[in-house]
Amino acid sequence: MENIFVIAEHRQGEIRDITFEMLNLGNSLAKENDMTVTSVLLGKDTGDIQEKLQKASDRVLVMDAPELADYNADYYLAALEGIIKEKTPRLVLIGHTSAGMDLAPPLSVRTGAPLATDCMDVRLTGDTLEATRQVFGGKINAELSLKPSATYMVTVRPGCFPDAGDLGKSAETDTIPVPEWTNLRGRHFLEYLTSETEDVDIAAADILVSVGRGIGKPENIPMVEEFATAIGATVSCSRPVADKEWLPKSRQVGVSGKTVKPKIYIALGISGAFQHQAGMKNADTIIAVNTDAAAPIFSVAHYGIVGDLLQVIPVLTEKFKNA
Ligand SMILES: Cc1cc2nc3c(=O)[nH]c(=O)nc-3n(C[C@H](O)[C@H](O)[C@H](O)COP(=O)(O)OP(=O)(O)OC[C@H]3O[C@@H](n4cnc5c(N)ncnc54)[C@H](O)[C@@H]3O)c2cc1C
Repeated sequence: MENIFVIAEHRQGEIRDITFEMLNLGNSLAKENDMTVTSVLLGKDTGDIQEKLQKASDRVLVMDAPELADYNADYYLAALEGIIKEKTPRLVLIGHTSAGMDLAPPLSVRTGAPLATDCMDVRLTGDTLEATRQVFGGKINAELSLKPSATYMVTVRPGCFPDAGDLGKSAETDTIPVPEWTNLRGRHFLEYLTSETEDVDIAAADILVSVGRGIGKPENIPMVEEFATAIGATVSCSRPVADKEWLPKSRQVGVSGKTVKPKIYIALGISGAFQHQAGMKNADTIIAVNTDAAAPIFSVAHYGIVGDLLQVIPVLTEKFKNA
């Protein structure tokens, strides 16, 4: 049976969310096409990660070597080139992350597999692979189809697919022999440097209260901050609010801001332009407050209040403070 490969991404012993998002995509494509999903895990002593992958894959291929402990394009390329040429999977999914952006183009050249990058949707029908990606800074969604090939390669934009989590599978794990390390360019892993964020990381918040232009003026933002504090949320915003410097740019959600996937996303006075939706539509629960019942945000919201946020928010804040 033909196979979909998901290249597992991990960092400092932690599996990265994009891996489970790709497993979600891989499993739904596999189901539609009667294929199987194989997680490919390169690393050193990756037992804990293997267990998680086994629950959402039909098979896990593991290569264990000290050179693979941290991402290094030299060794990853050498390892994956051999595996892909030998196994000829129908599709290889790689995260569109800093590592994936570094890895996928040379891997595509070395294996001859056509590559579509930064994809938000992927469709596999018979021998045809079609994908959706944004161009012109998110103004246009481009549909593309790759030239026919035995193997296709796609990098997947983070935040576009739900987390596969535990699919109740219990994949077998096979160990792949470590190859002769040839064709290396002499890159060495030195250390991970964590960027010093001056502000909170909205992508890590469980609850986000997001402010849009409907807030009217910056003097109204403390009212929203008070509401956020009352419910244990972090404040984020749409682009106009960041552009006007009412909140820092690091709080902006959307294509030119951050992609977020909180448990609850409360959109206050946000119209729901597709550039904004692209950054938040995968939140577990979306609640919108907007005076305009026809605002596009209501098309993705699970709950909505048609009303003036300046009246609604103080009432909700009082309710939660007294709860
Ligand atoms: C290349 C590009 C990239 C972009 N990237 C992003 C991005 O990353 N993130 C982003 O957010 N946008 C982005 N945009 C901008 C995007 O197209 C929209 O212009 C923007 O999202 C609109 O922000 P908004 O919803 O806050 O404002 P508006 O569209 O002006 O909507 C304000 C909403 O508030 C409602 N409202 C008004 N008063 C009240 C009130 N008192 N109570 C309740 N509701 C009220 C109105 O009905 C309206 O729906 C991008 C645009 C481009 C071209």
